[in-house]
Amino acid sequence: MTEDHGEKEPRGLEEQFKDMLKKANLSFVMPRTADEQDVQDMQSGPEPPSREERLKPIREFALKPRDIKDYLDRFVIRQDEAKKVLSVAICDHYNHVRRCVEDPSLQERDYTKHNIVLLGPTGVGKTYLMRCVAKLIGVPFVKADATKFSETGYVGHDVEDLVRDLVKAADDDVELAQYGIIYLDEIDKIAASSNAGGKDVSGRGVQINLLKLMEETDASLFSQTDLIGQMQAIMEMQRGKGVQARTINTRHILFIVSGAFDKLSDQIKQRVESSSIGFASKQKSGHQDSEYLRLVETRDLIDYGFEPEFVGRLPVRVVCDALDASDLKKIMLHSEGSVLAQYRDDFKGYDMSLDLTGDAVSAIAERAHREGTGARGLMTVLEKVLREFKFELPSMETSSLRVDRETVEDPSGKLAELLSSEDEVGHDELRQELKEFVTRFHQEHGLKLVFAKDAVIEVVKACAKEGCSVAEYCEHNFHDFEYGFNLIARNTGRASFRITRKFVLDPGKELATRIARSCAGKSK
Ligand code: ADP
Repeated sequence: MTEDHGEKEPRGLEEQFKDMLKKANLSFVMPRTADEQDVQDMQSGPEPPSREERLKPIREFALKPRDIKDYLDRFVIRQDEAKKVLSVAICDHYNHVRRCVEDPSLQERDYTKHNIVLLGPTGVGKTYLMRCVAKLIGVPFVKADATKFSETGYVGHDVEDLVRDLVKAADDDVELAQYGIIYLDEIDKIAASSNAGGKDVSGRGVQINLLKLMEETDASLFSQTDLIGQMQAIMEMQRGKGVQARTINTRHILFIVSGAFDKLSDQIKQRVESSSIGFASKQKSGHQDSEYLRLVETRDLIDYGFEPEFVGRLPVRVVCDALDASDLKKIMLHSEGSVLAQYRDDFKGYDMSLDLTGDAVSAIAERAHREGTGARGLMTVLEKVLREFKFELPSMETSSLRVDRETVEDPSGKLAELLSSEDEVGHDELRQELKEFVTRFHQEHGLKLVFAKDAVIEVVKACAKEGCSVAEYCEHNFHDFEYGFNLIARNTGRASFRITRKFVLDPGKELATRIARSCAGKSK
């Protein structure tokens, strides 16, 4: 009995826990140990890639900087300098990782990781560059905002959550996660700004915690505040596995930090101007912030509010330029992953094509540029321009949308025009056939049918949809007309009848109502 009890209790607990999660609308995946993972791989057949396959891109990393740059060129417009610096840093990093995997003794040697700082305004491709790189190499990638972390992890998130997220992004494959990329945005916001009156202790604390992570640490796979993680540990213990230390080593994780560093260019400008009159005079007119950012030195970042040790862990510095309207145009026309390509796919989902004139692309780019959010502005503008079309067009008899400059400037006007004209265009033959039916009916029965405009639309639409002729449609739907209207004509003396849309939609019912009305009128 005791044994029984002992066996049932863990399962009961697990189920109770899963019930609890279900009620709270949370899902739960038990991380797999390497052994369990292999067993599962064997059981479920060839579908999920084996560990060997997943690690192959790392073990056989052979890309050259130019390969990476060429790949990035397909997706990211401009940022050539950033692409080059990144390509070299990425190759150096993964070449080193590959060599360490081949010969683990190399790990004992001193090595400075090529962690990267990306500087530049929002929406210019900083994250996109790294996402593309991670995809090309086949390593997991996570992005987070530095502002969500607190020093202790009690109030906000703990920086080690980043590593746990990376494991999740690697489908719980801890080994693969060890070679992933962590991207931390808004890093400038955790600079302990001395000009804000007193040092920002929390930002400094987060930097120090990050330092350990960027260097090398064994991060726990379970957060202290993570209920699920703790339950996992208990359940593993109850399954007789004892408490296994589940950690991930961060030695080979590549860290990218980025930010707009708004005030940094002014700060560098001041430094440069005071130290070199020559440079300052050259930069006086028409210079961009990015030109000063390119001159960033370790001391500038320390003055900005970063710990020297933190800056020291970020040896690669890359500046991304602001994008102008012509860059935004190029993104729409040439970037394989552009938001316009996504919109085209959305339309394709309804078997419709989306065509933009060159003028329309320019107009969208100009408006997006005015948004001041880099390439993100493209999404905002395209959404505004196309959202009503995306709602209406799939239900209309149209297979394409042609967007010109007027459409961009007045999408509602263009849509209204399209809605009214959609019924006018494209069905001329069917309209003619309906006219012939009306003439024939008149000649044969001496009764005149007058179709309302919306009734005509309804008939031709139905014929177009069903692929039948108007004669066939009328024969099938209006076969009682002769009898019905003759009856009404006899009761009322009228010889002309208006056919409304309502009538077309339910001719049997409408005719019966009219006959009944005509009989009632006659009997009065
Ligand atoms: P940030 O610089 O703030 O990290 P992102 O890289 O996240 O900006 O850019 C947002 C989106 O805008 C990307 O997903 C991408 O679709 C588009 N985008 C931004 N910059 C470029 C660029 N230079 N070339 C092509 N697309 C870009």
